[in-house]
Amino acid sequence: MKMERTGEIISYSTVIFLLLLFIWITYQAIYRTFIIPFPNIPLFFYIRKKKFYKKNINEIKRHLNNHPFFIKLTIQQQEVFASRVSDFLFLKKFIPKKMDSVSFEYKTLIAATAIQLTFGLDHYFLAHFSKIYVYPSKYYSRQKHQYHKGEINLRGAIVLSLEDFISGLKNENDGINLGLHEMAHALKFNNILTKDTDDMFRYHYNRWQQEAEVQLIKIEELFCGNSVLRDYARENIDEFFSVFIENFFERPASLKKEFPVLFEKLKLVLNIDPENPQAPGPRNSVMEKKYEKVIPVDLKLEFNPTVILPFAMALPILITGVMMISLNPYSIFSYFVLIFLFIPLSFLIKYKKYLLYGNCLVVKSFLFRNLKMEVFDFRKIDYICFRNARGGELMIKYYEDNQISDYKFIWTSDTENTALFIETIKKEGVLLAVK
Ligand SMILES: [Zn+2]
Repeated sequence: MKMERTGEIISYSTVIFLLLLFIWITYQAIYRTFIIPFPNIPLFFYIRKKKFYKKNINEIKRHLNNHPFFIKLTIQQQEVFASRVSDFLFLKKFIPKKMDSVSFEYKTLIAATAIQLTFGLDHYFLAHFSKIYVYPSKYYSRQKHQYHKGEINLRGAIVLSLEDFISGLKNENDGINLGLHEMAHALKFNNILTKDTDDMFRYHYNRWQQEAEVQLIKIEELFCGNSVLRDYARENIDEFFSVFIENFFERPASLKKEFPVLFEKLKLVLNIDPENPQAPGPRNSVMEKKYEKVIPVDLKLEFNPTVILPFAMALPILITGVMMISLNPYSIFSYFVLIFLFIPLSFLIKYKKYLLYGNCLVVKSFLFRNLKMEVFDFRKIDYICFRNARGGELMIKYYEDNQISDYKFIWTSDTENTALFIETIKKEGVLLAVK
């Protein structure tokens, strides 16, 4: 009798454990794919967002009518821009400081600055930042013991002085724009240090920064003359980035003349040409996509260690299940339901998406879009190797930061696709080894 009771407890707790595990994995999948790019989303987000849009879109468009970037866009782009502004307003909390309220017009213009900066990107919310503090004018920072016009706070707030924000917006061609400056800090923090990242932002940003650091070393040369950039850009690489962006939008022609290479690289970082924002994203022309394929896991490949791994991971669960069933045959049904839910999920996790661009190979997780993405610059690939040429493993020897590392990915594509992949990378001059 006592034995039976213990068996019951074990079987019920195992079922509960498996159920919780399944819920957790499903939640993670949804969270990584949908929530990270759109945080602070209450339930029924889409309905509420749509309602907000319907209610406010006309007023938003009216406030945007004189916006220097907005008016350069096509009608279609303006629709997208206004709807992104609406989403931004819906998601962010504007908090007035030392003033009663922030008018809807100013909120719209602040949101528009963020959307202007991220207009070429897929993730445009600056998701890490949920609050925007607005002071009427310069405010005293207790931490730094001085007056500030704006700053970002890494816990997720952007702070702006309204007076300086407005004057930055009004003087369109002086290379000073507080809104763009602070949003640029926020964008860098958001896309480099947190997980919410536009696919290729990090890749292009790192290349921009490498070049910028070279320029910063030559700093005396740069600034003793008449640089387009104001002196403040010398502070550090972050200020250089923010001041560069202010000029990128406000004085693109002179900036391009002084920093032609950095200018082109920033076009790729932001995926926009400030001189011609109507044109398709500059990344398209440089990063011409040459190959895209989701490589499924071949269920027949039983002896492939990477395929067997999910089974290996499921083994303890399997053993627990068998123990449980031997103790209580009634739970056999729920147990098998759970196992059958796990197996397809564990396979889906292993699916990879391979993308070949003109200068790099991108390997992404298919299910968890934002979880893992590796970018391999062709110039840094030592060699690529297929183990068991048909169905098996793709191994990449890669140099980065003076280190050589091995990356291994599952590769079970058919012969035709593998041949196409090999042909494409060979054309790019990447060394190939087949073992
Ligand atoms: Zn700054």
